[in-house]
Amino acid sequence: MQVIAGIDLGGTNIKGGLFTTAGELLGKKEIPTQAAAGPRAVVVRIADLVRELVTEFGQGHTLAGVGVGAPGLHDFAQGECIFSPNLPGWRNVPVTTWLTELLGVPVKLDNDANLATLGEFWQGAGQGANNLLMLTLGTGVGGGLILNGQLFRGPDGTAGELGHMVIWLDGPACNCGNRGCLETLASATALLRLGREAGLPVKEAREVMQLATAADPRAIEVVDRYISYLAVGVASLVNIFNPDLVLIGGGVVKAGEQLLAPLREKVARLALAVPAQRVKIKAATLGNDAGIYGAAALFGDKR
Ligand SMILES: [Zn+2]
Repeated sequence: MQVIAGIDLGGTNIKGGLFTTAGELLGKKEIPTQAAAGPRAVVVRIADLVRELVTEFGQGHTLAGVGVGAPGLHDFAQGECIFSPNLPGWRNVPVTTWLTELLGVPVKLDNDANLATLGEFWQGAGQGANNLLMLTLGTGVGGGLILNGQLFRGPDGTAGELGHMVIWLDGPACNCGNRGCLETLASATALLRLGREAGLPVKEAREVMQLATAADPRAIEVVDRYISYLAVGVASLVNIFNPDLVLIGGGVVKAGEQLLAPLREKVARLALAVPAQRVKIKAATLGNDAGIYGAAALFGDKR
């Protein structure tokens, strides 16, 4: 049987999973990135991780390919990382060429948020939806687009940066240099900031949600405003893309219906009637594994 390795390269850890081509996860492992050692050393660590995965979970099987997801901008056709903000020294790194030399199998490289979306489409909450968007609410807001059953990358591979949609011209400063990006108002970081600005004694975003559940009036107001910002972004995307499905991922969505029920109501009010009626808004289901699923999906059986 043929197997695929899916790698999720982050600034702190490298996650890897071994999959069947049909998308069954055979086993997974995680190692520290040790990013300070530079790109070549990190790529060698990825190759070592792939070998370990095959040894532990893939005995008797043939490795058909390795998919790699990483933050930043990549040339998908060339398999080169052009720039990655969380990985020091990563400029024009020929990731797929190096890994193919080390492992002797085909390798593909793509943006991590794109691949999280592809992972949900392949094996998670996005199965069966031909047009879907995903927003991952974490430190920032990651985005990905599946249009007509395909991951949409755009000619430069930069498509799907849904978190940098400007929803407030004079809003908070964003890491991208702009102001008022969705990410500055709808990320987990933003929820925590909004909570603190309202005087809540919170250290983590989820505490704001918990205080709202406990009927703290300030927390209720903060959560309502936070969900309104998110809804403005989602409603705009619904109007533009007429998607079947919008998936919400990341730590904040652990709040479940506390987040999703008011989000659906607000989007129904803000978006145009026909696409608003079409769209389903659901929680992503693969959690932190979405990235390794999506990376493997680059070589997996098509849905
Ligand atoms: Zn931005």
